[in-house]
Amino acid sequence: MNLPPNFPALLTAAAAWIDSLEQQALAHGRPLAPHELAFAHHAGVREPQRIRVLELDHFPQPADPALCAAAQAYGLLSERTCGLTAGHGILLRRGVADARVLSHECRHVQQYEVAGSAVAFLTEYLGQIVEYGYWDAPLEKDACGHEVAQLGPISLSQEKPLTPALQDQMGSDSIEFASVMAFV
Ligand SMILES: [Zn+2]
Repeated sequence: MNLPPNFPALLTAAAAWIDSLEQQALAHGRPLAPHELAFAHHAGVREPQRIRVLELDHFPQPADPALCAAAQAYGLLSERTCGLTAGHGILLRRGVADARVLSHECRHVQQYEVAGSAVAFLTEYLGQIVEYGYWDAPLEKDACGHEVAQLGPISLSQEKPLTPALQDQMGSDSIEFASVMAFV
């Protein structure tokens, strides 16, 4: 694998950033709702009760400029990002993320569990992103393979329905809409 020379520094910065996101999610997020636990079970998560979902209007960007630039360059973060997993913390963009995104992120939780630590996961995951690119990274393909597509969009939180503008965009084909969303 031909990693860029600053990969170790990026990995250290990424691990610190992911750790801070997980702490935020664990402190302020909500547990999976009963119907959402099915996604975690489908994804093979060992400890679904530990998952906390933090819904945000805007996704945080890494403070480290090099990490921020690298994440954007590799397509890991953009203004369209609507899901991100940090250990047992799942960050979702409020009103945009649907069942497909949540089921995808649940598989990343399972991958963190298998790796045993955030550093171990990120070493493998970010190495794959650099080597194969986002869409062909085996861990991403694995997460995509565990997505649960539903015929209609669901609101992750019943009291926070989708905005009318988003419903207009989605029309009757949530799958097509999902394909234009970005999540990592
Ligand atoms: Zn992913």
